[in-house]
Amino acid sequence: MPPWLASSWQLIIEGLDSKASPHAWCIVHPPGVPASELSDHLVRVLLCQDPVNEEPCGDCVSCRMRDTHPDVLRLEPEGAAGMIKVDAVRDAIEVAYTTASMGGRRVVLVRPADCLNQASSNALLKIVEEPPSGTVFVFQTALPGKLLPTLVSRLRMVKVPMPSAELFAKTVQSLGITAQQVQLASALLAEPLAPQTDPDRFALANDVFQALVRIRGGADAQMAVKSFSKADALVASTVMERVCEHLIRAHYDRVDNAVTDILKAPYPAVPLLFQFKERIAEVKKQAQAGIAVNAGLALGSLFAAWGFIWTRVQV
Ligand SMILES: [Zn+2]
Repeated sequence: MPPWLASSWQLIIEGLDSKASPHAWCIVHPPGVPASELSDHLVRVLLCQDPVNEEPCGDCVSCRMRDTHPDVLRLEPEGAAGMIKVDAVRDAIEVAYTTASMGGRRVVLVRPADCLNQASSNALLKIVEEPPSGTVFVFQTALPGKLLPTLVSRLRMVKVPMPSAELFAKTVQSLGITAQQVQLASALLAEPLAPQTDPDRFALANDVFQALVRIRGGADAQMAVKSFSKADALVASTVMERVCEHLIRAHYDRVDNAVTDILKAPYPAVPLLFQFKERIAEVKKQAQAGIAVNAGLALGSLFAAWGFIWTRVQV
C-alpha cells in the first residue's frame, strides 16, 4: 500500500477492532491522490476467512480470489453520463438480502460514490442504515460534498490525508524520477499532485509531451500517435491543453517555464493556439464523458494539427 495511505489504514483497523465495527465505511481522499488500494484492502480484510491482526491472511479461499470474489457487489458509474444507475443499485440491494455465496460477509463497494445520483442515493438510504446481517458497505469519494447528507450521516468517514512534500520527494526518488521531470509533469498536468502519486499518469504525460517535442522538430504526427492508445485521450488532451496555455502565456510575459524551456521560441501565433485549444477542448470533453469511440482518431488529428501550427511559425 502506498505510504500516504498508512495512517488511514490505522484508523480502519481501530474501527474493525472496536466492538461496534461499522457496517458502512466511506473513504474520502484528496482529488488526484489515488486511494483505491485502501478500499480494495478493506474489502479484502472484510472477506478474509482468517484475518491476522485485522490484515487479510492472503492465503484463504477468499483472499486468493481477490478481484473475482462473488460476494463483492460493485456499484460503478455507467454510460455516457457516468452515473451509478438506480437500477444497478436496486439489483445490488436484492442480492444483498440473499445469503452470501461463500457463506461469509458480503461487501458492496460504491466507487466513486460521488457518481450516485439522487435516485440511487435514496435507494441506498434504508439498507445502509440497517444492512442485512453480514453485509458491509464501502464507499469511496474525492468529493464528499456531492453525497446526500442523510447518506453521509450513516457512514464511518475515513480521511486520506494530503501526502506531505517529504513523502512526495521520497516516493518520486524511489521511482527514479528527477526533480526536473516532476516540475515538467506538474506543468503538463492540471493537478500538481498527479505526477508524484500516480507514476503511470506522470509517465504518460511525459510521453505525450516528448511526442509533441518530436513533432515540433519535424517528426511525423501519425507515427507519433501510434504509440498512444484510445484510453490515453484524457491525459493527452490535458497535456496539450496545458502546453497551449504555456505557449500563449509566453507570448505575453516572456518568462520561461518548464514547457517553454524545451519548446523554444518563436511560437505559433496566439489566434492559432486558441483555435487549437478549442479543438483540444472538444476531444477532452469526449474523453471525460467516456465517449471513446473515436478517441484514437481524434488524438491523431490533434497531433496533426499541432504539427501544422508549427509549420506556420515564421522564423
Ligand atoms: Zn484470508
